[in-house]
Amino acid sequence: MTKLAIIGAMEEEIIPLLLKFTDVKENNFASNTYYECKLGNLDVVIAYSKIGKVFSTLTATTMIEKFGCDTLLFSGVAGGINPDLKIGDLIIANKLTQHDLDITAFGHPHGYVPGGGVFVHTDEKLKNVALEVANENNIKLIEGIIATGDQFVANEQRKNFILNTFNADALEMEGASVAVVCDALNVPCLILRAISDTADMDAGFNFDEFLEDSAKKSADFLIKVVNKLNK
Ligand code: SAH
Repeated sequence: MTKLAIIGAMEEEIIPLLLKFTDVKENNFASNTYYECKLGNLDVVIAYSKIGKVFSTLTATTMIEKFGCDTLLFSGVAGGINPDLKIGDLIIANKLTQHDLDITAFGHPHGYVPGGGVFVHTDEKLKNVALEVANENNIKLIEGIIATGDQFVANEQRKNFILNTFNADALEMEGASVAVVCDALNVPCLILRAISDTADMDAGFNFDEFLEDSAKKSADFLIKVVNKLNK
């Protein structure tokens, strides 16, 4: 690893991360801000992509092709599907899918387009480092399937569709697109999320109330992973 990319989708997801790095320099590119910084001797670039698959694709590609990052870590929040995942619990993806990618009219399965696959896998080594960190620190971390789509899911019906179609454990809006970029460009990636909600909220649920707390839990864990990678 010579240069590490760390991405979140929202400002709240990278603020707790930025505090841990030194020599932070802002670099504006493609209508976004990239924070070039250091952890000891390690070069790191941090950015929040903005929400959704398109912006996160742009950011991941930029991190790799423009800034030369050769390892990518994503930190953020997600809606939980697996009932074992309570608000604040952590999940890393072993594979991800785009739940809203739909050319089923042509007889293809959900999530599939020709030349792609229903699922994209993440890096085995990074996943194992994360599992080791969880083990050493006695932190609950589930490994599972994450489904990504350009919609905030807050209803039982859509949540159940995603569970039944992909057997997903959590859902969010950026992971699969980032993983597709990394897979295509041969850059190992880790997609880490802390649960912020259960994707079936009624109108009384205040997402932002849990966002900050869960984003910080994900960021705190990610820093532990970075420290272990940088040893
Ligand atoms: N608070 C924001 C909107 C958040 S959208 C605003 O008002 O601007 C939800 C973000 O959190 C996305 O980045 C997504 O990746 C993640 N997320 C958490 N829970 C989710 C859910 N139930 N459905 C979809 N994305 C979710």
